[in-house]
Amino acid sequence: MTGIAFVILLLLVLVAVVVMQADEWYTKRRHEEEELAWSCHFCGAVRLDHLIGVVKRQVSKGHGLTLYETRRYCSDNPRCVQRALLWEGEHRDLEAV
Ligand SMILES: [Zn+2]
Repeated sequence: MTGIAFVILLLLVLVAVVVMQADEWYTKRRHEEEELAWSCHFCGAVRLDHLIGVVKRQVSKGHGLTLYETRRYCSDNPRCVQRALLWEGEHRDLEAV
């Protein structure tokens, strides 16, 4: 293999690596843009799906039917997490009575 052929081969490999990296970055970016967003039931902020947690509590039990009420909260906001746990716990206390 001549020197020039080796340089061309090296350049082709370099271009391929750059194209693959760009594709990966673009795919990741597109995935982030397509991620669902939800509003927090406690502070009202609209957050991306991976930053939203859900708590649920049983609201009625009868006729063999069990219903659950759910609330979304910001999983990275300690204040929302605390309020969500309190909301979830309120019913637990009522159930014990
Ligand atoms: Zn929140």
